[in-house]
Amino acid sequence: MTEKMLLDTLNAFARKDIIADFWLRDDDATVPSAALDRLLNLSGQYSIPMTLAVIPEVTGDALATRLSQTNTIDVAVHGWSHQNHAGPEEKKRELGLHRPLETVIGELESGFVKLKSLHGSRFIPMLVPPWNRIDHDIIEHLPQAGYKSLSVYGPEKPDGMPLLNTHIDVIDWRGTRGGKDHDLLFAETAQRMREAHATGGMTGILTHHLDHDEHVWTFLERLFKLTADHPVCRWRSSRQWLQALLP
Ligand SMILES: [Zn+2]
Repeated sequence: MTEKMLLDTLNAFARKDIIADFWLRDDDATVPSAALDRLLNLSGQYSIPMTLAVIPEVTGDALATRLSQTNTIDVAVHGWSHQNHAGPEEKKRELGLHRPLETVIGELESGFVKLKSLHGSRFIPMLVPPWNRIDHDIIEHLPQAGYKSLSVYGPEKPDGMPLLNTHIDVIDWRGTRGGKDHDLLFAETAQRMREAHATGGMTGILTHHLDHDEHVWTFLERLFKLTADHPVCRWRSSRQWLQALLP
């Protein structure tokens, strides 16, 4: 295993004094768990800030109490209940037009209010749609539910809301459902860094702590070890990005 693709890009950036911005989003948190502790400890060890996309309906005080022991964690809203309302032939989707628009927006507003009240200063007004999917017609109504930004997966495609996306998914969902090959992930990361430099933007790493196998954990440790103190790399929180963006 080698991280050569990433090292080559880091060296090339260093020669040109280019800074690469990274951010970390972890999805599906509801309650404290051993896996969440492991991720909080690992990111904390390397001082990597992290945004947790929390599912509002089923979460409560226990997660808020656990996160109150941290100081680099932001909390974003991960839909309402992470339920699929799409038909069997469609891709899974909670935030589609399978139900009345008012129902969807009402749930998103409830999620915003609940997580803001549970997490206080750790809360950020960002929506992370479950399965990274949301219908275009819902996006324009997000501000009325309080949201100021959106985060999905893949290259940012402007659609009416400030976007902070993730680009590297550490899990091979369609194949083994385990961690992707490390070399592939380092190569994908290097490629995204070059795209982000060309287009302006960050490199977003996407994790799902409840679904990590050892392969994922060791990749994250290798990535953090390589980047945390590297002069080219700057790990930023979604809160810093929002603050720079919003008036
Ligand atoms: Zn999710």
